[in-house]
Amino acid sequence: MVAAPDINIQKVKTSRLQSLSLANLPFGKYFTDHMLEADYEDGEWKNIEIKPYQPLLLDPSLSALHYGQAIFEGIKAYKDKEGNAYIFRPLDNLKRFNISAARMQMPEVPEDIFMEGMRLLVNTDKNWIPEQDEHSLYIRPFMFSTAPFLGVKPSDCYKFMIILSPTGPYYSKPMRIYVEEKYTRAAPGGIGFVKAAGNYGSSLQATETAKQLGYDQVLWTDAFEHKYVQEIGTMNVFFIIGDKAFTPEIASGTILAGITRDSVITILQEMGVEVVEKAINIDEIMGAYKAGTLQEVFGTGTAATISSIKELKYKDNVIEFNTDTWKVSPEIKRRLDDIRSSKVPDKFGWMYKI
Ligand SMILES: *Cc1c(COP(=O)(O)O)cnc(C)c1O
Repeated sequence: MVAAPDINIQKVKTSRLQSLSLANLPFGKYFTDHMLEADYEDGEWKNIEIKPYQPLLLDPSLSALHYGQAIFEGIKAYKDKEGNAYIFRPLDNLKRFNISAARMQMPEVPEDIFMEGMRLLVNTDKNWIPEQDEHSLYIRPFMFSTAPFLGVKPSDCYKFMIILSPTGPYYSKPMRIYVEEKYTRAAPGGIGFVKAAGNYGSSLQATETAKQLGYDQVLWTDAFEHKYVQEIGTMNVFFIIGDKAFTPEIASGTILAGITRDSVITILQEMGVEVVEKAINIDEIMGAYKAGTLQEVFGTGTAATISSIKELKYKDNVIEFNTDTWKVSPEIKRRLDDIRSSKVPDKFGWMYKI
């Protein structure tokens, strides 16, 4: 246990929850009564507050708006049948948040502020955690530079915040995916391995172009040859070939090390499926499809957990699946859902009790 930081709590007089049903809410549209805000100034974190959710007043010269020192995380909280609240693997998100901070020349957020701030905030808005199956409270920690200064250099002041959004099931239909050969998400030496805001702004054009062609998302490939697969949109990707699972290795520094990815690897191993992490050439995938050994392709991430891919288009080749016959990815999803809804014992120690 780390020492509890000094967090000032100022609660709303009346909750907005009374006017809202938590069933089937769309992702990321509604926010709870409170938010956490902390400032980094003169080399230390101060003014740590939980207060009513409200707009920020920002200087137009705010450095984050001009030069993009901005990072975030995505985490989910769940309630069990007795009403106890749990957060899924938040310490892993803290670790990744501080890796993102270091890459972007931002200060680390100490464990006590991140964890105790999140715990207190979620506890304050505990009534906002939906209880229905497959519903959760999405937790969004983020940090951005706040210096009112137009020079290009690391800022000397930052804001760390956490906001909460109740969300319904993310029924993602099986997706049609376009293998991207023009645009690049990440190159070695870049920031593909961190959750920096700029990665998402720069990805929008490829995604919109693929949508105009009738696809849901792109499968990113490497920056040099456009041959080695990276990720599907903002999800990690898995291929079931024969009796093994394959996923791109993260050592290249161009892939975000998803916590769902890590959980899926653990569950596949528990299911007795060998997992191979390596550089994966799109031609291998095409070859496995032609040979009849490519069985399932799916994306993994906190928002949707597992998204099936029913079609993959690469040049003139089209891979198509009947996802209704799949066995492996539905079983992974079932096992993960059972852990998160506390239907089975938490044997991997993933559920952080509030
Ligand atoms: C957040 C994210 C993921 C998924 O990470 P999780 O920890 O599983 O939610 C994968 N790829 C990118 C680019 C992401 O931003």
